[in-house]
Amino acid sequence: MSGHLMGVYNRAPLEVDRGRGARLWATDGTEYLDCVQGISTNGLGHAHPVLIEAVKEQAEKLWHVSNIFKIPGQEELADRLTESSFADVVFFTNSGTEAVECALKTARKYHAANGQPERIDIYGFDGAFHGRTYGAINAAANPSYTEGFGPKMQGFHQLKWGDHEALKAAIAEPNCAAIIVEPVQGEGGCRAMPDVCLRGLRELCDQHGVLIIFDEVQCGMGRSGKLWAHEWAGMAPDIMAVAKALGGGFPIGACLATTEAAKGMTVGAHGSTFGGNPLAMAVGLAAFNAINSDAILGNVNEIAGYLKQQLHGLKERFPDVIEDVRGKGLLIGLKLVPNNREFMGWARDEQHLLIAGGGDNCVRMLPPLNLTLDEAREAIEKLERTCESARSKAKAAA
Ligand SMILES: *Cc1c(COP(=O)(O)O)cnc(C)c1O
Repeated sequence: MSGHLMGVYNRAPLEVDRGRGARLWATDGTEYLDCVQGISTNGLGHAHPVLIEAVKEQAEKLWHVSNIFKIPGQEELADRLTESSFADVVFFTNSGTEAVECALKTARKYHAANGQPERIDIYGFDGAFHGRTYGAINAAANPSYTEGFGPKMQGFHQLKWGDHEALKAAIAEPNCAAIIVEPVQGEGGCRAMPDVCLRGLRELCDQHGVLIIFDEVQCGMGRSGKLWAHEWAGMAPDIMAVAKALGGGFPIGACLATTEAAKGMTVGAHGSTFGGNPLAMAVGLAAFNAINSDAILGNVNEIAGYLKQQLHGLKERFPDVIEDVRGKGLLIGLKLVPNNREFMGWARDEQHLLIAGGGDNCVRMLPPLNLTLDEAREAIEKLERTCESARSKAKAAA
């Protein structure tokens, strides 16, 4: 292996070769059941034929121009996104963190456009993950991502998840610009904000002219069982960051907003070289049309229902291994008793099941949205055997 990569990743000892649907093969030929899927990015699994076709067709036509020209695919995907959401306008990016960056800038610029440029305070929550740009790490304020990177950026504050009084006080602050939150936390341990809290947040923010930014980079695009996770609560944000499954594995992000919230984003206010390029838009459109369908969303709800029931069963039988089952739809978190990193390793090496880690000693299951019932059964069997293995290891160590 080359020693020339920046050492920022703790990589699993698995060299990947190819994938198909929920299966991933290593270069040594080992087959895995992939319930990570690029951390909830491959919404349609690996190598979906519709996406392959879209890439091939567009690759022969046009890859990249620049946003100084009109890009029909961009307008079409923006139409699809706004038809199916609260939003009126879209800015395309290449990643989740850039979508978050655009959301943060849009919120501050809104208040500046309203003649209140001093209104810059943005409140995030503990356990949040918004990506790795300076804006995103400051908004999430996870010390392990901010330490050593210079002074904290001005105007970013953190709230404790579930502390309603602190949230109310923050929203009432005269310089509060926006609240940023994942309706269902991903990296932070799959905590879902209760619907009643999301509705309460909307009411309070409306009273004080504060904008709501949802980071649906991970929980959006069908993963929760609705296209957007906040739909379950029957409310909507002003601005939303989307990415991951938006491109079905191709790097695309988007910042969605209402016309009102985006009023400060006028000519010259923001931009991107690669954002919204024709190749990305072609794949994005194909992925969006496939995912925004009764077939996929119905499947998410059916499979999620099965998995949830089975996982609760496992929790009952293995209280010494599984402490809690969390999440929404196919964004599933298991809070564990044994170390989550070790458990992931056992699942991978002994059962050839790939699962992701998460905060709060969780592991995450993020299977493709088109996972079949047979594959879901297989995942449960593999998890059950991993729980047995974890139990016998704990006994041997005692
Ligand atoms: C992955 C993720 C991001 C960052 O996306 P990148 O494409 O890695 O920049 C932001 N927010 C959430 C909720 C995520 O899960």
